[in-house]
Amino acid sequence: MKILSPAKINLFLQIVGKRPDGYHDLFSLMCCVGLYDTVSLDAGVEETAVSCDHPHVPEDETNLAFAAADLFYKKLKKNEGVKISIQKQIPVAAGLGGGSSNAAAVFLGLNRYYGYPFSTDELMSMGLSIGADVPFFIFRRPATASGIGEKLEVYPGLKKLKILLIFPGFSVSTATVYKNLNLRLTKCKKKLKSSLLGRRSFDPGCHLCNDLEAVVASKYPVINTVKTALLDHGALGALMSGSGPTVFGLFSDSDKASKANHALARTDETWQLYLADMITQDDGYSISYT
Ligand code: ATP
Repeated sequence: MKILSPAKINLFLQIVGKRPDGYHDLFSLMCCVGLYDTVSLDAGVEETAVSCDHPHVPEDETNLAFAAADLFYKKLKKNEGVKISIQKQIPVAAGLGGGSSNAAAVFLGLNRYYGYPFSTDELMSMGLSIGADVPFFIFRRPATASGIGEKLEVYPGLKKLKILLIFPGFSVSTATVYKNLNLRLTKCKKKLKSSLLGRRSFDPGCHLCNDLEAVVASKYPVINTVKTALLDHGALGALMSGSGPTVFGLFSDSDKASKANHALARTDETWQLYLADMITQDDGYSISYT
């Protein structure tokens, strides 16, 4: 079985506070985008094993896809395993949730293979113990996330826009970004959040905000360079996704996005550019199994 495992972007990411267990409470607006890894599963074998064509992705039990399979079989009380092979397209440690998406693909694929023994809610709660973004990739619809990312609510006000993602060619550790965050200096204020929720319609000109962006940009000023480049080339808005360093620009149509892609591809040879669509309510959220 092959499953397409999408990336996500955070259109809004407000850090609300730090909890005693070290996790941060947040409020985020997330959306899947049409940039996919392919996760292949050969289920019902003796032992779980994982392979991946990307040199920075572990091929042991620390791979989030392996951890998902392990937990699934424990809950199913079945002494079997799955051979997982991952073809990476999503840049790694880039703020696009690739590992969490791969874990969700394993949960969804195994649940289908074994005749749906678990409900979506059960899969989402298993997913949360693997990573805070895993429930979102099981949910898959554009959603606001609160708590540590596990309380999800459909967000219906997203128009389908074209996206140009720019990965500036280096990875960022999510844990380090959170460690360097000064909660007193965050800027996604309550008023902006109320406007986002009140209008139920997302405006890329004013709602894009990420509390983690300044933390990463202070160490890597290229974040601001990429944002400015996207805006100069016609983006309606631009923002760093998650804990970065990938920056995305939103475009009203494919023509504008393609022109920006063409022009910016020559700016810096370390940048990797990806043109993609937002996956919104119009797409039906079907999971692609082959
Ligand atoms: P985060 O969820 O931490 O914000 P991210 O989206 O920035 O993550 P990922 O691509 O998920 O980044 O990778 C984060 C780390 O997880 C990497 O350093 C990688 O070694 C590890 N990892 C484990 N399993 C996977 C996987 N299946 N795909 C990608 N990375 C994985």
